[in-house]
Amino acid sequence: MIAPDDTTDPRLESWISVSPESDFPIQNLPFGVFERGDSQRLGVAIGERILDLSKAAQAGFFDDVCERELLQAPVLNPLLAAGRQTWAPLRERLSQLLRIGGDSRLRDANVERFLCRQAAVEMRLPMEVGDYVDFYSSIEHATNLGRLFRPNAEALLPNWRWLPVAYHGRSSTIVIDGTPIRRPCGQRKMPADAAPEFGPSRRLDIELETGFVEGPGNELGMPIAVADAREHIFGLLLVNDWSARDIQAWEYQPLGPFLGKSFATTVSPWIVTLDALEPFRVQGPPQEPPPLSYLRVDEPWAYAISLAFDLQTQQMEERGIAPQTISQTSFAGMYWNVAQQLAHATANGAVTRPGDLFASGTISGSEPGSQGSLIELTWNGERPITLTDGESRRFLEDGDEVTLRGWCEKAGARRIGFGCARGRIEPANA
Ligand code: MN
Repeated sequence: MIAPDDTTDPRLESWISVSPESDFPIQNLPFGVFERGDSQRLGVAIGERILDLSKAAQAGFFDDVCERELLQAPVLNPLLAAGRQTWAPLRERLSQLLRIGGDSRLRDANVERFLCRQAAVEMRLPMEVGDYVDFYSSIEHATNLGRLFRPNAEALLPNWRWLPVAYHGRSSTIVIDGTPIRRPCGQRKMPADAAPEFGPSRRLDIELETGFVEGPGNELGMPIAVADAREHIFGLLLVNDWSARDIQAWEYQPLGPFLGKSFATTVSPWIVTLDALEPFRVQGPPQEPPPLSYLRVDEPWAYAISLAFDLQTQQMEERGIAPQTISQTSFAGMYWNVAQQLAHATANGAVTRPGDLFASGTISGSEPGSQGSLIELTWNGERPITLTDGESRRFLEDGDEVTLRGWCEKAGARRIGFGCARGRIEPANA
């Protein structure tokens, strides 16, 4: 027997056909926003389809769970604000409506009215992002970047093991999967003894990251404790923190990244909820020195999410050569976890609001080919990557398309995925 509240039970099947390799079996049920006609609507992915939450709410399927307005908004923010006491029964109802042997009301209705094909709609940003923070929480990445940017100093700065280092990013340049990325112009100073000049970035890079989305938010002056993180974090998505390394290297001291990153940040369309990720929650790496008490966690807060990024150059595309996987890594090894990041970001009483995005920082492993950026993989361009069509890359060229992917799989659980976050580089403004 399947426990009625176990929405991640691997034995659950949907009456909507879902292929075994789909990212979106009934155990996932991620939330997104799609455009159909001229209206933006909330949806839940199931296989190749989307359940239109606006229409399903109009039909009354959730009237005992939440107000219809939450599901009929053009973005997820009202639902995010409603908190876990709404998210949990909503997920349970969705699972019951879509499972074989569950609540048959949706299946018995004129069901095509409530469903559409993902291929037939455009996905939009799932939430309005008021504030965006990007952490720096992979010790492997921070060590590599320290060596590359400050070769004559200690790789990790003294604060790194004490607090989750971050910078405030630019929320208004967060874009959805598929949005073209124009090569940024800026000041660069390379080599180090050259004079500064202005022009298109020559070291355009990606950063393979996840991000979590804040739910209800907190009041000014009221920090969020690590123990309350589950009430706040709605779910995770994929984030590509595009980075112009030459601009970044010249501008970042003393106040951190600015124009080297603020030109674009790509996110994946579907937010995978913490409830869907629950089977993949694992113990994170040991932390030494032990974190200060406000950062101490007493339960596993890491997630075993496999991550990869693929590259397809314009020439590969023209010759029909498939995208090449450049890096594969795991989110499980991140030094600082999402609960610690949220607690730290609000420890001074700073406000978070529904829809705020907190990205993880570049996710790098210790094995060759597990680094989440080209600057690490090519060691600042010293060791170019040879591609399957014979081309080589140090950094991104115009016409290159980068695709981030993420998924979770383990014995005893149904595989779920995040979909992807793609972006293709367009030439700089003339
Ligand atoms: Mn980053």
